[in-house]
Amino acid sequence: MFLPVFRSGPCLLAALLLATPCAFAHGPEHPLPPAVPADDPVSGFVEAFDKAVAAGLPADIAVPGDVHRPRRDVAAAQLVVQDALNIEVDIPGMPAGRMYRGLFGGREAAITRIGTQVDISVPVRDGVDVTGYTAGSPDVLRERVRNPDAPAAGRRPVPRPRDESHVMPGWPFDMDPPLSSEPASLGRGVRAIEDPLAYSPHFFVLIHDDLDARPLHIHSVFAAWWLTELARKILPAENIRMSYRYRIPGVTDMPYGYPEALDNWHETVKAYAELYGLAHGKTYKHKYLLMSRDRPMTDAFGVAFEGGNEAMASTEGRVNIVAHEFGHTLGAEHGLAERRYEGWWWCVTNMATGTDDLIGDCHRFSYDNARRIRSYLRHGPDPEVLAERSFSMILN
Ligand SMILES: [Zn+2]
Repeated sequence: MFLPVFRSGPCLLAALLLATPCAFAHGPEHPLPPAVPADDPVSGFVEAFDKAVAAGLPADIAVPGDVHRPRRDVAAAQLVVQDALNIEVDIPGMPAGRMYRGLFGGREAAITRIGTQVDISVPVRDGVDVTGYTAGSPDVLRERVRNPDAPAAGRRPVPRPRDESHVMPGWPFDMDPPLSSEPASLGRGVRAIEDPLAYSPHFFVLIHDDLDARPLHIHSVFAAWWLTELARKILPAENIRMSYRYRIPGVTDMPYGYPEALDNWHETVKAYAELYGLAHGKTYKHKYLLMSRDRPMTDAFGVAFEGGNEAMASTEGRVNIVAHEFGHTLGAEHGLAERRYEGWWWCVTNMATGTDDLIGDCHRFSYDNARRIRSYLRHGPDPEVLAERSFSMILN
């Protein structure tokens, strides 16, 4: 099958070097995400990205030269945008952002296009690399975010648990769960509470006041890559929304770092949702995570209501901490995590626990946890499982 591929290499280079408008004679133009007026000359990477994506996917886009890379490294200078994803990224003060899946320098990448920005997130063995471009600016932002416990070169790694989160059984609705002693009514009980088609998956990340409010940074490091997997492989038929909020008095200034922090977060979210008319307590598809600088509980980088709607995570945790905690709220479990061999190294999936730092992170959900998440979002939480667990709090 012939797929039109947009190759902007020489043309973009000329535009960059000579600062001249570059004529593109490819394919039909579709007005795609906002930002740049159609008659604007292609003057930088973001503009070239919009033009290429509008001309049709997949698209190859030449990346402006990098002095740190050898010239022969051609693959490193290419962004291939493969698919548009059914994800909307919502950051206050910016038009709705879109996400794409692609290859950056030959490696799998999650691409976020929002406002004046293109951010490219590439998960690696021990962290995430983010490359950011701004419309109208020649500057390139490069961030190599590594898990805090990754060993420094030449140093012995210090073992630290992969997951130090607390999990508590949770129920996403305002009313009590159906009694587990009535097995016949279990499935119907949840469906009676919510029409599975009434809501779409919506994740809220509320950024605590003790962090710099850089929602796109948090998105690109902690969320973009697992959202890509969610949209591509786990929930291809759903429209997924990711919202970031910050500096909300009474919400993002909440004290934390004590055993009841998650319960208080639940009450805080409830009040916030009432104030803004959000569907909290009416659906299992809306999840609320507080992202803070320090640990939400004294001994945990993350905490979540298993199958519930609220979670908390610290930016001091691993870069998969948000995937892990949202995973708990979607019914994923530690016990269903996998160890995989990824070409050159072993890695473990997002819900894994353990202390072996010589094993990398796969930045994927295991097959079984993907299935759990899909089932949760189609049918709701399993009251039987939650009732069983409510007898004992699960640690880690
Ligand atoms: Zn956990």
